[in-house]
Amino acid sequence: MIMGRLWRPDQEQREATVPHIDPESHLICEHGKRLVLTCAHCQVLAHASPIAVPRFQELQSYRPAQIGVVLRCDACLAPIFLRFTARAYAPTRIELAPQFAEVERARERFDCTYLPEDVELLFKEALTCFSGGAHNAFASMCRRTAQALFSDLGEAGKLKLFDALNEVRDLTALAPDTFAKIRSVLFGIASDPRPGIPLLHSHEAGVLLEVMKDLLYQTYVRRGRLEQAMRVRRFFYEEAHNPPRVSSLPNAG
Ligand SMILES: [Zn+2]
Repeated sequence: MIMGRLWRPDQEQREATVPHIDPESHLICEHGKRLVLTCAHCQVLAHASPIAVPRFQELQSYRPAQIGVVLRCDACLAPIFLRFTARAYAPTRIELAPQFAEVERARERFDCTYLPEDVELLFKEALTCFSGGAHNAFASMCRRTAQALFSDLGEAGKLKLFDALNEVRDLTALAPDTFAKIRSVLFGIASDPRPGIPLLHSHEAGVLLEVMKDLLYQTYVRRGRLEQAMRVRRFFYEEAHNPPRVSSLPNAG
């Protein structure tokens, strides 16, 4: 009996924390919380409410390895399709893995206005790979984007980018092995006779994405926006100090 009492709170706690489908076909999320995710349609980080969950009895009869659920984005009301892996079919609950796959992922965006044409083309393809979950194709396109950057900026610019990458590491306390991989993706390793691009898992790819955005922002977007703002300031200054002369129209008669 004592063993049973000791066991029960653990079991109850486990049942409360594990995402599952109950016999009423309700999706119960981890810790009973509501799901929060970035909607692929409106790009807002919003709550999502389950609107279509497969019937409990039907799942119990077929016992599929993967279970699809539809939620509604509370911000834009669009449907969000998720795929869960079924972990266990118990008589009173169907346990799901805490990680789920978003069938439609939010597209990654970046303001490419100030980027040189070839850098923009390559980085847009990199974003397409990332949005599609092809993380190593993304890394390969980041290498090509970096090569386009180097040829645009020259050797001095390449050294500046190297410093900027070190700065990102110091600012964000990047883990040494993640940093080493990202440096190797972007710059390669000079001592390696056959420089390859290391394999990245999804978290490392996410970090690489943020690093790329920061490098491109620092290199082009920041300067482009400042130049644009200064041009506007100069225009208003010159307007105020040298108002255009009103010339009289030539007499048509
Ligand atoms: Zn939405």
